[in-house]
Parts: sequence; C-alpha cells; structure tokens
Amino acid sequence: MAGEPQADCLFCKIVAGDIPATVVRETETTVAFRDINPQAPTHVLVIPRVHYRDAAELAAADPAVTADVLVEAGRVAAEDKVDSTGYRIVFNTGTGAGQTVFHAHAHVLGGRGLEWPPG
Ligand code: 5GP
Repeated sequence: MAGEPQADCLFCKIVAGDIPATVVRETETTVAFRDINPQAPTHVLVIPRVHYRDAAELAAADPAVTADVLVEAGRVAAEDKVDSTGYRIVFNTGTGAGQTVFHAHAHVLGGRGLEWPPG
C-alpha cells in the first residue's frame, strides 16, 4: 500500500537501518544521507520515511511531509555551508528524467557551479 514500507525498496531499507548510509540529518519524518555516487561536493538525498514512488505522489498524499523534505533540504545546505553560494534541489521524476530509485527523494547539490539548463 502507498505510504507503507516496501520490502524491495532500497531507500526503505536505509530508513530501517538495514542498509548503511552516511546520515547527516534525521527527523521524525525524514532522513538525509550522502549520495553514494556524488555529483557535486555536496550531494545529499533527503527522503521521507514513508514510501511513495516519487515527489508528485508524495505531495498529493502528504503535503506536510513534502514540506518537511524541503525544509530539511535547506538545513542540509546550511550545514554544508553551500546556502550562501547557491545550491540546487532536484526531484528526478520518472525514468526519462533520470529517476532510478522509486522512493521519493530530493537531491541537494552544491559546492560547485551548477549550469542551467541541466542536462
Ligand atoms: P535518482 O537517479 O533516482 O534521482 O537518484 C537516486 C540516487 O540514489 C542516485 O544519485 C544514486 O547515486 C543514489 N544511490 C543509489 N544507491 C544508493 C545507496 O545504496 N546509497 C546511497 N547513499 N545512495 C544511493
């Protein structure tokens, strides 16, 4: 059922502590950890503890937790001191946009110049 932990979901396993991750922040509703394949000096994933396949599904089902994810993204940027130089919050949504893990997550990217438009 949407919102419930999924046995085959990598990020649900990180939430449960069954797969290790470099966790930088945790709240009652979110977990933030460093990406295993960083694309920038700061590359942190902020995920809701609840399982939804992407950001749109999360937002439709649980706006409050969606807001929590965004607030935590800002806190991660501040703690990594990339907030003053600029950073990017990205929700890849669907395979065509590069989504590979189907548990909603925000990428927080910073610490280098970020081009626009993105690739
Ligand atoms: P997506 O491509 O779905 O937008 O982002 C998934 C992200 O998860 C990728 O940036 C990928 O490097 C990261 N990732 C995949 N497996 C793991 C893992 O086991 N641990 C961590 N920390 N990150 C992972």
